[in-house]
Amino acid sequence: MKIEKVAMNTEKVRCPYCGHPVNAVKGKDAKCQGIFFKCKNRDCKKEFELKI
Ligand SMILES: [Zn+2]
Repeated sequence: MKIEKVAMNTEKVRCPYCGHPVNAVKGKDAKCQGIFFKCKNRDCKKEFELKI
């Protein structure tokens, strides 16, 4: 089992389609748009835009 340590006020970015975590964390006050991630879930593989 993998233990992920992240800072207290950050949150894992997750795929909005399947909930699979992507390799990014966002801070509590983060704001962004126009940043795209591709889901690593083999059954999903969707690209999505991260908007906060
Ligand atoms: Zn996904």
